[in-house]
Amino acid sequence: MLNNTVNKNPLVWIGIFAHPDDETTSSSGTMMKWVKNNNEAYIITGTRGEEGTLGTGDLKIKREDLGKVREKELRHNLDLYGAKPPYIFDYRDQDLDKETPEVLAKKILTILKKISPDIIVTFGPTGISNHPDHIAIHKSAVIAYKYYKSDTNQNPLLIYPAISEERAKDYGLELSEDEKRLDIVVDIEDTFETKIKGLKNYKSQEDAQQLAKRFVEHNFIYESFSISPVNELDKNSTKLINYLASL
Ligand SMILES: [Zn+2]
Repeated sequence: MLNNTVNKNPLVWIGIFAHPDDETTSSSGTMMKWVKNNNEAYIITGTRGEEGTLGTGDLKIKREDLGKVREKELRHNLDLYGAKPPYIFDYRDQDLDKETPEVLAKKILTILKKISPDIIVTFGPTGISNHPDHIAIHKSAVIAYKYYKSDTNQNPLLIYPAISEERAKDYGLELSEDEKRLDIVVDIEDTFETKIKGLKNYKSQEDAQQLAKRFVEHNFIYESFSISPVNELDKNSTKLINYLASL
């Protein structure tokens, strides 16, 4: 339902992240609600996460196979969420920050032009965990966003996953101010179970298993986002913000 506030159907979401599983941890509950409302969702992943853990439980993966395994996990989950198949760049895990930010931004720009997004979700300045790949994708996504706006005259909304100061402390995270502002809070109770299933489906990754446990223990049925200060908000952005918050 667009309750005639946003004059485009379907609306297009894109999440721009570094590794398979970043999208699930940060924003999959909201993305699924977006899709359930007859909208489209895409993900860009900068790497295949080849440097991650080599399996959990009985699963033992060889280092040289990990990229393929993680790509498969990502594709499976995006299908589960109702999102489109991912755009995956061929950077090696932990090499994203070795690329010139503008070069990575141009690759992102090509995809933005193809899909004409209404909402762009990417990490904020610390990448939540201070992972250099997360910070690199943040920088390039912001540059791509600026290129896209000046090349097309479109004005999509750029948002970052955000975490309350209190929860950030619990996790030992040192976030930027832009990642602590809960400008948009989405109740994901309806999609929470599938989000947890998605995390558990990342069987190669220890982190994903631990987060699944933690999210269930603490019943984290909300996802929060801050509005990037890079935005030049107009009427349509306000509509999109209200629409997101009402999902
Ligand atoms: Zn990551």
